[in-house]
Amino acid sequence: MVAPFSSDALPSLPKPSLDPSINDIQERIDTQALIDATHSVVTSKQFAANVETIGTHLGDLWLSPYGDTVSPQQAVVMYLGLDPAFTGVPSTLVWGTTEQTGPRERATREATIELSRAKLRQWRSGSVLRKSCAINTLAHEISHAIPQSQNGYSYQFTDRGRPWATFWGRPLVSYTMGTVAQCTYLQSKKHRAAQTFASCVERWGTSHFNSAGCDDE
Ligand SMILES: [Zn+2]
Repeated sequence: MVAPFSSDALPSLPKPSLDPSINDIQERIDTQALIDATHSVVTSKQFAANVETIGTHLGDLWLSPYGDTVSPQQAVVMYLGLDPAFTGVPSTLVWGTTEQTGPRERATREATIELSRAKLRQWRSGSVLRKSCAINTLAHEISHAIPQSQNGYSYQFTDRGRPWATFWGRPLVSYTMGTVAQCTYLQSKKHRAAQTFASCVERWGTSHFNSAGCDDE
């Protein structure tokens, strides 16, 4: 059982830490700015409200393409750690070659979030649209650091079988959180891509990420 949603509950989603191996000072500053912006978007009241609104269009969200579904509100409760049983494990962000999140080596309750350097370039660009794509990806990866229970760390939200989810048009929690974060960011910047919230969410996707549009401007 997941605790009921309350808009007064304070999020306890841990912020990813910077990997100590990032030596370049400018890179540390820029990475921290991406983490801060993403965390601030997803812990805003607007984000929770947007998930709820979009949920009325999407219906229940899938934990994974094979598994159970949860209501959009339950997904927010778990994602933001509004229920202590699902508080995200501490995570460390590293720059690499791909996007993936998993248990940190030799640590049972810690995660490593790897993002490709293409995401750093998006974030550093002057375009709000491109920056929003980096936020989508980080918000998505953060969902993989939410544990199934307080013991150990195994994924609550997964993407396995994503082609099936795409084929059947099933909204997955991980992609929905990423895309709602992206559109909430665009909305806060009064970007035209978020003028109609539902079409913004449809554009970037809830069963996979339509990243092809990220370089449109
Ligand atoms: Zn994923």
